Amino acid sequence: MDSSTANACVVSSGPNGLTAAIVLAKAGLRTTVFEAQPTIGGGARSAELTLPGFVHDVCSAVHPWAASSPAFAGFPLAQYGLEWIQPPLPLAHPLDDGSAAIMAMSLDETCARLGADGAAYRRSIAPMVRRWRELVPMIQAPLLRMPVHPWLLARFGALAFWPAAPLARRLFSTEAARALFAGNAAHSVLPLDAFGSAAFAWVLAAAGHAVGWPIPRGGSQAIANALASYFESLGGRIVANSPIRSLDELGDASLVLCDVTPRQFLALAGNRLPDRFCHKLEGYRYGPGVFKIDWALSAPIPWKSAECARAGTVHVGGSLDEIAAYENALAGTAPSERPFVLVAQPSLFDSSRAPSGQHTAWAYCHVPHASTADMTERIESQVERFAPGFRAHVLARHTMTPAELERHNANLVGGDITGGAQDLRQLVLRPTRLLYRTPLDGVYLCSSSTPPGGAVHGMCGFHAAQTALRDLRGKA
Ligand SMILES: Cc1cc2nc3c(=O)[nH]c(=O)nc-3n(C[C@H](O)[C@H](O)[C@H](O)COP(=O)(O)OP(=O)(O)OC[C@H]3O[C@@H](n4cnc5c(N)ncnc54)[C@H](O)[C@@H]3O)c2cc1C
Repeated sequence: MDSSTANACVVSSGPNGLTAAIVLAKAGLRTTVFEAQPTIGGGARSAELTLPGFVHDVCSAVHPWAASSPAFAGFPLAQYGLEWIQPPLPLAHPLDDGSAAIMAMSLDETCARLGADGAAYRRSIAPMVRRWRELVPMIQAPLLRMPVHPWLLARFGALAFWPAAPLARRLFSTEAARALFAGNAAHSVLPLDAFGSAAFAWVLAAAGHAVGWPIPRGGSQAIANALASYFESLGGRIVANSPIRSLDELGDASLVLCDVTPRQFLALAGNRLPDRFCHKLEGYRYGPGVFKIDWALSAPIPWKSAECARAGTVHVGGSLDEIAAYENALAGTAPSERPFVLVAQPSLFDSSRAPSGQHTAWAYCHVPHASTADMTERIESQVERFAPGFRAHVLARHTMTPAELERHNANLVGGDITGGAQDLRQLVLRPTRLLYRTPLDGVYLCSSSTPPGGAVHGMCGFHAAQTALRDLRGKA
């Protein structure tokens, strides 16, 4: 089929859907994006959740993956308003003695601050940092593909394969280095004794040194808006307020790319799918959920360690043992008392986020899948532990349970923010061995339930669209 006469539909305007739509539009297909919600962007949206003038990131806030993304690097997003801000420090991790472990962009500075563990940290991570631009296309792609730099990937795999907690105990002797590693590994949303959990710690740290952990000026909505404007400049069309309930609604599009998770895809296409594929999708596992909280603040968070006020992200949870104990217990039904909390404080570095002199802060912790627990008190106690007097600065708060997150964005099944558990099996066969393809001719999956998985990078959409275009050209 000639792509200049073909048309395509993309279900949803998440970063993966928009990226897929751009790739298709650039290839000459008349492409339409349908978004269920009134506003576009999926997990990259911002809104005044608390008080007028306080702009909060509803889902994603900090973007090492967007800054590393080969897909985004190929789009002129700066021309469409996307501007990155690098906080002075990507990450701080406060400890009970009032100090903080620090990840600076500079590897030298980080190693110097890690003291006795600096050399071990450098030995492991320096090759990944040096060759980050070569490593990223391999780890932001299906893992079954033949790698372009097999030795580099093998070297990374030898460190990444291990469970994070025992690896940190073996490599590092100080509480600071172990805690820093554990906080990064916890982004996996895996137990820290699960094989593969160390991978997340290495890649987030390597990204921090290679490209930083930047935030977009104006909020993560700026990423979605830039992608959408670029797409429209290519002739693409976006229709908001249009939940797609069945593939039949999309007519005879040559290609249909679905930025939805397997459970929703079953609802969209189930009547057309062979039983075997339905069973495979039914067996796809979702992971723990998150409980999200946003604050409007009268002043910056009063961290005991002044270093924390220089960091875009602060990992609040204390030692490796505490973080591991909390994350390991998420398979149960109730979250424990002292959560590991991820905090972002964008207004310290971006004055557009709050009225003058006032601030926003964003936080979440993992909770068991679909948990109904209200974690407000537990999250605020953890922040207060490292920032006494914090609560006195809270002007307003907005919270979201897993069910509320799923109402905001149907892809957040049970509050799972990664589009399905990211254990070794589901990282390789994501969501099935067909990856982006489905048994239906011209119909593809392109959400974070496909490789390389969660985060704002658009690479699921990028690879899915490339696969779809290859198949379309094969029919010509
Ligand atoms: C609280 C939270 C914090 C996060 N923090 C970060 C972070 O700091 N950095 C980072 O990189 N990532 C973060 N993420 C993850 C990131 O947001 C996601 O991995 C990413 O947005 C996935 O993109 P996607 O395009 O696959 O799907 P999504 O962005 O989830 O978009 C899916 C879209 O599909 C729409 N939709 C669903 N069903 C239909 C339908 N039937 N018809 C039409 N439209 C439909 C939804 O309305 C939604 O707009 C966070 C997520 C959450 C929830």
